[in-house]
Parts: sequence; C-alpha cells; structure tokens
Amino acid sequence: MMHPDTELFARTDGVGLGVRATAPIPRGTLLWVRDAMDVVLSADALAALPEPLLGVARRLGYRNARGEWIVCWDAGKHVNHSCSPTMRGVGHDAMIALADVAPGEEITCDYAECNLDEPLACCCGAPGCRGSIGGPVPEPVWRGWQREVEAAVAASAGSAQPLVPCCVDPHAASVLAGERPVPPLADVAIAPWGQEGP
Ligand SMILES: [Zn+2]
Repeated sequence: MMHPDTELFARTDGVGLGVRATAPIPRGTLLWVRDAMDVVLSADALAALPEPLLGVARRLGYRNARGEWIVCWDAGKHVNHSCSPTMRGVGHDAMIALADVAPGEEITCDYAECNLDEPLACCCGAPGCRGSIGGPVPEPVWRGWQREVEAAVAASAGSAQPLVPCCVDPHAASVLAGERPVPPLADVAIAPWGQEGP
C-alpha cells in the first residue's frame, strides 16, 4: 500500500504511469508497505497463470527474497525505477523515504531490490545512473544504500507513520522506534549481493 499522500499519474515521456506525492512527506516516513490485500504467489502459482494474466502479473509484480511473486493491489505496482530512488527497503515488506519528498515529486524505488530474472538496461536519467539494473550488487554499494536507510530510520523519530498498522511485518514499528536493528538490505536479494549467484 502506498502512503495516503500519493497518487497515480501519467508521465509525459512515454514511460507510462507513475506515483507521485500530493503533500510534503518527511524523510524517514514509510512510503510503501506490503499489506494484507497484496497478492502473494508461489513460483509454481505464478507459472500456472494463463495468459494474458501471466503477462500482467510479470509486468506489474516483483519477486521477494523468499522467491514469492508479489502483485500490489494499489498504485504500488506502478512505482517506477530510479538509480537514485526516493525509497529503499527497510526489511522485506516496507520502504522508507530517504529524503524529504515534495508535493508533485515522483516516488521511485530501485529495481535492484526486486530480484529481476535478467538485467534490464536503464536510462532513468538519475545522476549516477548505473546503466543496467539487476544482478549482484557489489558489497560497498549495498552497504552505502544500507547506511542511507539507517540514516532515514534515525530521522524518522516523531514522524507520522500512517502505513505502520497496514504492514504485514509486525516488527516495522519497533525498527522505526530504534528498538530493533534495521534488517540488512542485502537480505532482500535472493542471491546475496556482492557474490556470484548460483
Ligand atoms: Zn538508472
């Protein structure tokens, strides 16, 4: 589920739909959580879907670290990729704003966290665009991302967190409160980042 102060919009550059903020959202706010209405499919259940449903599910879903295929019921399935994303994962089932988000600003994530089947070419236009998405992420890189997430969590103290009650992760609130460590970002990947996959 996307943060309530977001909306779907049509990009004018041919990318299609995206999600943007409709109000200021402070750094450290959860922008997306997996909730009880999101669809969770095993690998076998995904493969058994008939076309054209299979194509829709593959285009709009992502694979989590457990190998499950998730299709968000709301605008979350239309969040676009950026190599300089608005949000990153804090645990498997939540994403946090890395910086303050202004009204009208697009909400993006990094598909490197989505366990892509095969690398995609990227032309997102962000400063430092990596040119491709997917595959193992070098350890120094994901540790840098981890520090960004930890800093955002530290900055979240006192912020309103409307998505916490909706998150399937029962530990989301205690992580944000600093009562639990931030889960390693590398855990969101099936093949450990920084190592060759099987
Ligand atoms: Zn890029």
